[in-house]
Amino acid sequence: RRIEAPTAGLARRRDAVFGPAAEPLSYREPLHVASAEGVWITDVAGRRYLDCYNNVPCVGHAHPRVTAAISRQARRINTHTRYLSEPAVELAERLVASCPPGLDTVLLVNSGSEANDLAWRLARAATGRDGALCTDFAYHGLTEAVAAVSPEVWLDGRGPDHVETWTPPDPYRGTALGEESFEAALERLMARGHEPAAVYLDALLTSDGVADLAPEHVRALHRRAKAAGALWIADEVQSGHGRTGETLWGFSRFGIEPDFVTLGKPMGNGHPVAAVITRSDIVRATVGQSLIFSTFGGNPVSAAAALAVLDVIDDERVLDRVRHTGETLRTALRELAGRHPAIGDVRGVGLAVGVEIVHPGGTQPDRATAVNVRDGLRGRGVLVGTTGRAGNVLKVRPPLAFTDREVPVFIDALDAALADQPDR
Ligand code: PMP
Repeated sequence: RRIEAPTAGLARRRDAVFGPAAEPLSYREPLHVASAEGVWITDVAGRRYLDCYNNVPCVGHAHPRVTAAISRQARRINTHTRYLSEPAVELAERLVASCPPGLDTVLLVNSGSEANDLAWRLARAATGRDGALCTDFAYHGLTEAVAAVSPEVWLDGRGPDHVETWTPPDPYRGTALGEESFEAALERLMARGHEPAAVYLDALLTSDGVADLAPEHVRALHRRAKAAGALWIADEVQSGHGRTGETLWGFSRFGIEPDFVTLGKPMGNGHPVAAVITRSDIVRATVGQSLIFSTFGGNPVSAAAALAVLDVIDDERVLDRVRHTGETLRTALRELAGRHPAIGDVRGVGLAVGVEIVHPGGTQPDRATAVNVRDGLRGRGVLVGTTGRAGNVLKVRPPLAFTDREVPVFIDALDAALADQPDR
């Protein structure tokens, strides 16, 4: 099918005004979206797509309680954050209540990048150090400070001097690096004269290819990081807001107490709002050195959106649904893997699922097939992405409104898209 003229025209206008920095569009044939509801997106031609990809519309696209909260507050008042107003305070109180007791302070900002950037600034001030560690294909954001801990976007594969990376374990291939790799990274960093200020971890390793990390493994890394004097930043931009189906936050599955919890993407169901949750002693160290102020961070409309998301997660028992649907989905995928040798591994937690596409008969990543399957699914009205260093892992991370009803729609489309692939 050829791209219709208005879409091609819009794509050209987009390229012209956004220039070479424009984020590449998903799919060979870009999706020209018109509207969405729940787990379904409709394009400008009126075709519906099952959204198995987007974690930002956390409780479902256009959730009526979130849109109502946003418009109600927008009609009432929206302003900068130097006046007293109820929503931001209530939001911060609820976030603090959702975390371990030491995490008593909230800083509201506007994006995951900003949250991770601010956590970095606070970690540096509190420790007086300048070294950072992250996994070797992590993404933590776009500002200069956090692009430094985002190897996924390092163009030449090399990061700055003050950053080191470790390789997480890969149980599928039987490589159990992990702890040794972390220790070696720490030693390399210190040998270059950078004591570690902070360790960043996305509990689900979303950019590294999606993983269900063993709790005892993460506890060992956390212990080692603490012994080295580093602060721990639990980046919950992907794993937070119920994605795991266990608790609100992904780090809790490891039984660790981070020094920072950073939130973004799903927090406002698409409305830009983000946060750092940390300890007051850490914040005091920074405030002694410089001011922290965000004009929009925690504005009444954003705070109302974030509160509505938390309400929906509670009232609709979203965690229970995520746990249940995640299991249904992985079971169906494993059954499919029995019939399609291109599926090497199925893994994940809750509604964060990785489907690793390999050359049949081994474990060698097959990026070309993964990309073809992703585009084949799009052609069949199902949206997924790809992730991982080799780009061969299908990233299945739907809105948490996804239910058992949608699982067979996805599985049937994946079955057909895989069957379409030439034997390699
Ligand atoms: N951390 C993680 C784990 C992310 O996945 C992302 C975005 N992909 C960010 C931080 C940055 O968030 P944002 O794009 O909202 O700045």
